[in-house]
Order: sequence, then C-alpha cells, then structure tokens
Amino acid sequence: MSQLAGAPAGEAQATGCPLCQADGGLLVARLPNCRVIRALEPGFPAFYRVVLQAHVAEWTDLDEPAQWAVMRTVNTVERCLRELLSPTKINLAALGNVVPHLHWHVIARFDWDSHFPAPVWSQALRDAAPHHLATLDARLAEVDSLIARRLQPDPAP
Ligand SMILES: [Zn+2]
Repeated sequence: MSQLAGAPAGEAQATGCPLCQADGGLLVARLPNCRVIRALEPGFPAFYRVVLQAHVAEWTDLDEPAQWAVMRTVNTVERCLRELLSPTKINLAALGNVVPHLHWHVIARFDWDSHFPAPVWSQALRDAAPHHLATLDARLAEVDSLIARRLQPDPAP
C-alpha cells in the first residue's frame, strides 16, 4: 500500500463514505496525505480529527512511512492543544467502527468536562459548566491557527 503515501487527495475514495465526500468538520489544515478538522462535537470544543485523504480502513493498511507521515500530524495537533490549552489529558483514539475511514481523534480533556475521566463516547457523568466551555471556545481560533502554521511545509522565517 506504499502508493498511498504520496497519493493525491481524492484517490481511493469509497462511495457512500462521509469522510470521502466531505471534510467531516471545520477544516483546519489540508495536507497531501491527510487533513486536520475540528470536529464541532457539542460539549467537547477542543476535539480534533486527523483524517486520511484516501479511503483506508485499518492502520496497518498503511506502510510504516505512511503511518509516520500521519503520526507527525497527530503529534503536531497534540502539541498545539497542550501548549495553548494545558488540558488535564489528551485522548488519542482511532476507532472507525461507525465510519471505517481511518481517522485519529485528538481530544483535549479537562477534569471539568461532562465525561471525565470516562471516554467521550461513554455516558455523561455531569454537566460541563458553561463558563468553562465558553473559555475554551474562545481559544479555539488561536489553536486552529497554530496547528495550520505548524503544518505548513515551509513555515515563513
Ligand atoms: Zn472514505
């Protein structure tokens, strides 16, 4: 599957796959192999996804260079979230049970969020305080911008 590493966006698409047909959220950065989107999940403002451009279901469908190229982007998103938001924890996950098009969830978690310390996909444990959500929301444009800058192939000096 090494041809996927340099495959242009739009190759290997699957009919009916929502991540082949649309970005899947607010587009933050588009790279040759993957894109970063902000997921716009209610209750979890700092919820990002790194989505492969090609329709690939499983992580090991990619060869190691292609995996590393994707993981560099995951690393960048995680670092930006940590630098700007100081979350209690970062959650990384690749499930794909609902949409089997490879995507990494990169989620900044906080001890005040509605589900912490449980996964975001579990039952809520509490209501998140609106002022916490609003404070986080106000930082997201800056987070998006930092991610986009860091992922540029040739950042301006
Ligand atoms: Zn797809």
